[in-house]
Amino acid sequence: MAEPEVEVRRSKRRKQTVSAYRDGDKIVVLLPARMSRAEEKRWVADMLSRLQRSETRRRSPARESDEALAERCRELSARYLDGRAEPRAIRWVPPMRTRWASCTPSDATIRVSRRLRDVPGWVLDYVLVHELAHLLVPGHGAEFWKWVKRYPKAERAIGYLEGLSAAAQLGRTLDGDTD
Ligand SMILES: [Zn+2]
Repeated sequence: MAEPEVEVRRSKRRKQTVSAYRDGDKIVVLLPARMSRAEEKRWVADMLSRLQRSETRRRSPARESDEALAERCRELSARYLDGRAEPRAIRWVPPMRTRWASCTPSDATIRVSRRLRDVPGWVLDYVLVHELAHLLVPGHGAEFWKWVKRYPKAERAIGYLEGLSAAAQLGRTLDGDTD
């Protein structure tokens, strides 16, 4: 991953505490106003590595391999789709120009862009549930969304992916078809 942009904000009200959070592509570090440049440097480096460690922990184990991805699909199908979605093959593929993932219902195969390897696990889970649901219902009609919305974080994940697309200015949609 590229070095993130860092914005340091100093606050007079802040006496001791240092905190940091991600705001889109940027990382905001909040520091007390009375802190030396040397201390600032040390704290910023420290907060960045802490934040990255916690974000790495939240990534999905499914990112490790095609087998791990298939295993995650079995779990998600069992949990949200009554075990009815059974892909014949699922694999990570090199980044696609306009899609995060795709599904070919005729031969029950699913491909997931490697660009999604570093998103939080709950976002990747949404993408997998979405593609698995296409094995039950093609297109994006009401019947399709009824299945997908069984995944509780669907709305949040859709928002996350929209933000990611906008940030990358790629106009990428989930799997190419608009609705
Ligand atoms: Zn779709």
